[in-house]
Amino acid sequence: MYFNIHTHYSANEADSTVSIRSFYSDFAHASSGILCSLGLHPWYLKNYEQPLKELKQFVGLPNVLAIGECGLDKVCQTDWALQIAVFRCQIKLANELNKPLIIHCVRAFDEFLKIIDENPPAVPVIVHGFNKKGGISERLLEKGMYLSFGAAILNKESPAAGVLKLIRADKFFLETDDADIPIGDIYRATAAIREISEEAVILQVQQNFATVFKYNK
Ligand SMILES: [Zn+2]
Repeated sequence: MYFNIHTHYSANEADSTVSIRSFYSDFAHASSGILCSLGLHPWYLKNYEQPLKELKQFVGLPNVLAIGECGLDKVCQTDWALQIAVFRCQIKLANELNKPLIIHCVRAFDEFLKIIDENPPAVPVIVHGFNKKGGISERLLEKGMYLSFGAAILNKESPAAGVLKLIRADKFFLETDDADIPIGDIYRATAAIREISEEAVILQVQQNFATVFKYNK
């Protein structure tokens, strides 16, 4: 069984894949019962009262496995104070509902870690699409966070591949995000990078998934 913890596409994968579909709007999709995560993405924040209300309406459903993607992005045009306020709201919500956070963070890791220190989440925190060097992975892992890796690892020279090679086995997840590739390709690349069998990757991610998402299939 493959686990794809972050995708924006509807599940067209084989039955052997459990996918968490990520929605940043139209949260009512969750009422269909599909496994998903719901969150207010920094790219799309304008007036957040109404979206936050809608998020709260659906995020408690049992098939909503996580809150996110949410976080901070210094590259987008969204007002910075607004990004911070909305991110804080979602940490609070995650704590209240006891659901993991899936984090989007672009060029804002110092600020992200500061907010985490001020508002410590009581739930697992997964930084998705990780592809950074310069000691950032160490700082996140030190806080007990998890890292999720996607298409970047298909390039063996990427920072992501370098981090994935050495990360503790119980700290990583795999994803396709918005890349149109089978999750199996990410598993096989992981096996090559960590120099273990694909079967070993399958078992490890399955175990990590069960631990963090309290979900067994
Ligand atoms: Zn995404």
